[in-house]
Amino acid sequence: MADYAAEPASRGIGRSLLLTLPVALWALLMFSRALMLPGVAVKVAALLTLVFLVTLFFQMVRTRQTNRWRRWFFATLGFLFPIGFVWELVALRGSMSIPMEKMIAGDTPFCFMVIPMILLPAALTRTVIFPGAILPTASNPHSIAAMIGLWMAATLVLGKGWCAYGCFFGGIEEGVAAMPRKARVRKIDGRWRLVPWAVLAAIVLLSLATFAPTYCEWLCPFKTITEYAEVRSIETAIQAGIFLSLFFGLVIVMPWLTKKRTQCAFFCPFGAFQSLFNKIHIFDIRIRRDQCTDCVLCQNSCPTMALNKQSVADDKTLINCMHCGACVDICHKDAAVWHIKGTPVGTAPERARLLHLYAAWGFAIMFGGSIIAGTLTKMLGFLG
Ligand code: SF4
Ligand code: SF4
Repeated sequence: MADYAAEPASRGIGRSLLLTLPVALWALLMFSRALMLPGVAVKVAALLTLVFLVTLFFQMVRTRQTNRWRRWFFATLGFLFPIGFVWELVALRGSMSIPMEKMIAGDTPFCFMVIPMILLPAALTRTVIFPGAILPTASNPHSIAAMIGLWMAATLVLGKGWCAYGCFFGGIEEGVAAMPRKARVRKIDGRWRLVPWAVLAAIVLLSLATFAPTYCEWLCPFKTITEYAEVRSIETAIQAGIFLSLFFGLVIVMPWLTKKRTQCAFFCPFGAFQSLFNKIHIFDIRIRRDQCTDCVLCQNSCPTMALNKQSVADDKTLINCMHCGACVDICHKDAAVWHIKGTPVGTAPERARLLHLYAAWGFAIMFGGSIIAGTLTKMLGFLG
């Protein structure tokens, strides 16, 4: 039986290269079309993205550290997504605001955040309560069918790991949280973890009662950096004020002060919804009680507060664990370990980590990689 504590701290370069080979081939397949397109910008952007993502995976394999390298990808995705998205909107519409006629025509990009709100109304009335096109159109590739298909694939592969490998919004917070050396606010009441569940319940019920996407209309912090309704009335001015306050409060200021993903941990209803899929996901993080010294390093390192005293004592994480690996990276006793459900805890945890990483990085290259490469293409093209 392989034992994690008995493994050396890092792998040899040859073995690491061999383990990285499948990911390099997958990346080559994913970017092969872009590499053959005419134009220098698109080729250079694809090549830069490919090398960046494959190098990060190689480092994850070689150093046996996950979160340390994953964060570079995720923060890059978080900062480049809004640039590319708004760039596209401006090119198509001349502005990042949604004109009323586009809204009425259903020509607005569909966002995965809306999924928990549309399920019940769609099941009860066969109506999708979002002003978006069901199928992709030339002016709007982010259709309802495309985004739901993507979300289902991601959920099967990642569970709540969507929040660590797919959600570009979370990447912004992660980038901001990584900047200060130390947290200025350390004590956070664990009861804040319940807020996303309350927001989820409220928006699902309100959407059902009003048949309108309540979260988009009133609460989404990311309207600040993607697209927003024009401010034409007191109501839209209040909405804009809420979006801006939530964005700067929870996505910029609080992550800076706490070094946590505060919007994800204490507000995001989609994150709460996605946590439910951890129940059917095959990977999890467990604590080997015989190795654990209750040092609380793992609890302090968790960006979403998915560990507390009780969960560590019970040898597991809370349901909102997004499989980022920060707790495993920091545990100096190798007590926090990757685990495949149904197997004894501590059996070949490095194998479990690698299997999880192949799936997660495969998705990250396909989805996040295409966003990064797309934005880089625009930027390089602009620079001439
Ligand atoms: S960091 Fe490791 S040893 Fe410390 S409390 Fe967490 S699992 Fe236990
Ligand atoms: S419990 Fe560990 S793996 Fe899960 S979110 Fe927290 S730090 Fe990441």
